[in-house]
Amino acid sequence: YQIKRTGRNGVRRFDATLDQALERTAFLTREFQSALSKEQLSIVYQPIYHLKTGELSKVEALARWTHPKFGEISPTIFIPIAEASGQIVPVGRWVLLQACLQGQQWGEDLGWEGTVTVNVSPVQFAHTDFTEQVKEALRLSGLPAHKLELELTEGVIMQNPTLVQTALHSLRRLGVEITVDDFGTGYSSLAYLRDLPIGCIKIDRSFIDDLASPRRAPQYAVALITAIVSIARTLDLQVVAEGVETQEQMEAVRGFGCDFAQGYFFARPLDAQHLAGLLKRVQPLGGPTRAKRLS
Ligand code: C2E
Ligand code: MG
Ligand code: MG
Ligand code: MG
Repeated sequence: YQIKRTGRNGVRRFDATLDQALERTAFLTREFQSALSKEQLSIVYQPIYHLKTGELSKVEALARWTHPKFGEISPTIFIPIAEASGQIVPVGRWVLLQACLQGQQWGEDLGWEGTVTVNVSPVQFAHTDFTEQVKEALRLSGLPAHKLELELTEGVIMQNPTLVQTALHSLRRLGVEITVDDFGTGYSSLAYLRDLPIGCIKIDRSFIDDLASPRRAPQYAVALITAIVSIARTLDLQVVAEGVETQEQMEAVRGFGCDFAQGYFFARPLDAQHLAGLLKRVQPLGGPTRAKRLS
């Protein structure tokens, strides 16, 4: 590093960028320490629709950080920072409880029967008694366990297979549903899909993107998505298509046999109040208003 620093301009410029990046990470790490206590964190909820019935079946909880000076900071930036500092443990516990409380309230106030899904970081799994956290959130909120779904990435599962296996089985015994998030982007070992108590997979957005990508032939995406759905059918897993942005993509994934879809075509992540507005529009007997748009 020292030698490079005294080197040519190009190298020096690279070091400056690296310094800036490290500086920024250190800064955000410090700022994030107090984000929760300063009430800078919030949760938005994105609907997931059942493609056959048009029902709003599930809602994914997504964390948001609004910094007083810098505004919205993406979770793709602050989640890794929170993971590195260990802050993800209290933050993850907070998200989990808030999402359960919210799901329970929508059940009580609106009679909503759907599921709340919460993202789980590998650090939460490794550093805490995660199952106890889940039990506590269910107990404090009163949310029935079958109305909670936990989203894990393939990375989480492969990182510590034995630990994860034990944890997943005890979560399943509670009645909580397990979902594999961003499916197809990690180490796709079919053995874990077969052996672990997983109920659902979410096909990563990049596969859905490829359906409309000018860079690749659409047959490529069609073949991959069809293959994933076929594996899911064989293993009796539900399938969610992530990142559906257009009518064409929605019709395509429905045609491939995906059970659910989520994406900007249906709705962006919304605050709890706006999401409640969507839930209220579901008519218990006449069917959901959204069904019209789906067909
Ligand atoms: P994810 O779990 O795969 O969540 C889906 C992401 O895709 C969300 O981004 C969502 O806003 C975005 N999205 C949904 N529909 C569309 C679409 O049609 N087009 C596009 N381009 N994007 C769409 P978000 O909210 O920025 O979150 C990014 C990631 O951060 C999440 O990916 C998840 O891995 C992580 N994350 C968010 N909240 C939490 C949390 O509370 N805990 C943990 N551990 N991770 C979280
Ligand atoms: Mg997710
Ligand atoms: Mg995902
Ligand atoms: Mg994703």
